[in-house]
Formats: sequence, structure tokens, C-alpha cells
Amino acid sequence: MQQSILFDPELIRRFDIPGPRYTSYPTADRFLNDFGPAQQITHLRQATLEAGQSYSLYFHLPFCNTLCLYCACNKIITNDRSRSAKYIDYLEKELALQAALLPGAHTVSQMHWGGGTPTFLSPDEIRRLMAAIRRHFDLLPAGEYSIEVDPRKVSAEVVTLLAEEGFNRMSVGVQDFDPRVQKAVNRIQSVEETRHVIDAARANGFRSVNVDLIYGLPFQTLESVGRTLDTVLEIAPDRIALYNYAHLPNRFMPQQRIREADLPSPDDKLQILALAIRRLGEAGYVFIGMDHFARPDDELAVAQRQGKLQRNFQGYSTHADCDLLSFGVSAIGRAGGAFVQNDKDLERYYAALDRNELPTVRGWALSGDDLLRNAAIQTLMCNFELDFEAFGAAHGVDFRAYFAAELSELQGLAGAGLLELDARGLHVTQAGRMLVRIIAMVFDRYLRADAEQRRYSRVI
Ligand code: SF4
Repeated sequence: MQQSILFDPELIRRFDIPGPRYTSYPTADRFLNDFGPAQQITHLRQATLEAGQSYSLYFHLPFCNTLCLYCACNKIITNDRSRSAKYIDYLEKELALQAALLPGAHTVSQMHWGGGTPTFLSPDEIRRLMAAIRRHFDLLPAGEYSIEVDPRKVSAEVVTLLAEEGFNRMSVGVQDFDPRVQKAVNRIQSVEETRHVIDAARANGFRSVNVDLIYGLPFQTLESVGRTLDTVLEIAPDRIALYNYAHLPNRFMPQQRIREADLPSPDDKLQILALAIRRLGEAGYVFIGMDHFARPDDELAVAQRQGKLQRNFQGYSTHADCDLLSFGVSAIGRAGGAFVQNDKDLERYYAALDRNELPTVRGWALSGDDLLRNAAIQTLMCNFELDFEAFGAAHGVDFRAYFAAELSELQGLAGAGLLELDARGLHVTQAGRMLVRIIAMVFDRYLRADAEQRRYSRVI
């Protein structure tokens, strides 16, 4: 079924509380520090592919030439081009270490290069990393191979090279085309260079092009965002991600250079969001979930109609839930029943690999309860509904008995209009779809434990 949404400002205001985006459950902030290389080795050795299964790979490429002030990613700003050559040496070491531990086939049908700026790499470095990946893994020809591209740094020749190396999906950072907004966030990027890269992607047979936009940036107004949307809709990417800018200057130092007084007010922000959703809907984009929109013929929209949409660390995907092997500083993966995260510090990441050790510093071994709750949360995020009998049969539980406390809590959200609940299942309303993570949070056992802990603390 294709999803449509109803923009209800009152409901959004009422439930405007911080919460996870559930690209994983449990969320990464729960991972434990006493989970290191020894634990990861055990889990990698258990990561056997069953018939028809394949791996997903993630590569974190942290270098950027310039600093975008809103950015909350793990990145390293540098003009020293030699740094990426050294980094690839270490990625090669990490690839060899992980691949040697995996029993059975090394088949891959999904890969993503994120960052940072993956296109910081020179053409030779792109070739070298791809060759190293292919030495250890078999990339299926029909797979989804995507890369984040900064149009300010990429020529048509590089796009051609990416296609030759097997990439077939591209995500292009735009954020906003208004010159005043761009200056305030230190990201000057012309419409021409953006269009040039997207045209090159199409000419080289990329199957899907995504454009990232952000609302809530300094100096944005209804008019300025309207103009950015005009341009983006003219370019007509296959997918559009519309992210909320969260101003957290105490957590992300560069955001201290964004003046709070220049930000749109919460009410203006809500109006901007309403405008964007209306314009995207009028232009024929369908709501996929969370911040994502796609043209009806894009494979994400098709997968959603067919009930085959998935969600993982890379966001929404058509690819079945599978083990994700991750490489690079700060990268998060999931293999053999555990989440793992690499060191966020580049020198420590290098030092671990110099000792021929995996650079794992945090992780989480998934329990049966985690897997069940993960399945419930991902079903809600992708399908906006949950059939109790079908879910129970697929996972070997009596849904109503297992989630009795959650069902009782969901009554409150049903009363508020976020969902409909009956004996057969749960259905997120059109107005509730924008707030689906609020419903997902009810199934998060660790959040529930935090809330109970806070209640207990207050009582005593
Ligand atoms: S938004 Fe992208 S290009 Fe800008 S600093 Fe962050 S990672 Fe680098």
C-alpha cells in the first residue's frame, strides 16, 4: 500500500520530543564499552550466510575539504590529500582481517560509502579501494551500490569512474540553494554544479539519485525554502530526504558559529515543513517514512507498495535485513548476532590495525527480546501497521501477551490520534505517520527502563 500523510501541526507540536530514529535497535547509544575485538571475532565467526543471503558493506570515509557548520557527522576537515591514501592502506588491513574471520561465502548485494566525503578520494584511490573490496568479497551484479557525493568536488569524469566501478545509486548533499543560508552554514554550492553531477549520474545509468535537504537552517523563510524546492523539483531526483536541523551547539562545536537569533522560530520551522510536505506531495513524491520521499516509480516506493521495504543503518532499503560489515573509523556494523562500533579516533583506529587487531571498541550482543522488538519497530517504520497474528506466527510469540504492557501504553497514543488499535492489529493513522518514531519508542525496552528509573528516582 502506498502511504500518504496528513500534516497535523498540533499533533507534531504536542509530540515534539527528542527520540531515536531507529536505524538500529537497540540504538547505538546503548552499546557497551566492554565489547572489543575478542567479542567481535566470536560474532564474525558465527556470521554464516544462508542460501540466498548476502552481506551488506559500509565504508566510512571521514575526510572533508571544508566544514559545514550544521554537520553532526564524524568527519575530519583537511586539505591534505595524502591523508586518504594512508586511510585506504588501513581500510585494506581491516578488510583482510574481517574477511579472514567470516566462514562460508562472501557474497555482497549492498554497499554504501558514507562520510565525511567519500569523493575526497582521488580517482586512483577509488579504484584501489574497490579493487581491495573485490579481492575479499563477491559483489553481485544486481546489487545496490551507493555513494554520498559532494557536488562541489566531483567532475563528470569521476561520476563515470564511479559507474564503471559498480556504483548505481548516489546521494547528493544540497541542504539549501539560498545564497544567504549557504553563507551562514559555510556551504557554498551552486545549482549548476549540483545539476551537473546529477545529469552525469543519469547519463552513466545510476538507477536512483537522492537529494538531501535540511529545514530549520539560519535565515530560511517560507519564500527561500519555496525557491529551493522549485529548483529541486525541476531537477526531479528519484528520492528526497528532508532532515530537521537540530541546533545542539554544546554537543557539536561547529554549530556554535551558527547564531541562534538567525534560526527560524519553532512556528516558522513547522510552516516550512508543512510547505515542503505539501509541495513534494503536489509534485507526486510519496512519503516513504521518517524524512524520506520518493517518486512513485522509485524502487523504495515500489517496495513499500509491495510490503517489502526494509530499514537498516543506511536508512530505508529494498534489501532484506542482513548482516552489515562495516569498515573505517567510527563505523557501525552488525554481524553474527551483535552490533559493533569501531574507534572514533583516527590515531587509535590506526594503532589497533598496526597491532593486527580489529579496531572494535563498543558493541552489543543481541538477545531474543532485542530481535523481537527490533522486528516490531522496523515493521512499524516501514509498513505503518502491525498485524498481531502474522507477527506472532513469524516470530513464535503470542504478540498480545508478550507486549501487553506496550499495548496498554499504545491506548494513550490511539486516543491522541496517532494510531488505531483493535483486536487484529495496530494501524498508524495518516496524521501519525510523521510521528511513527513516537509509536516505535513504546516498544523500546531500554527507554522504558530509563523512564521507570526516573520515576523511581523521583519517588525516593
Ligand atoms: S555535511 Fe558532509 S561535507 Fe559538510 S562537513 Fe559534514 S560530512 Fe563534510
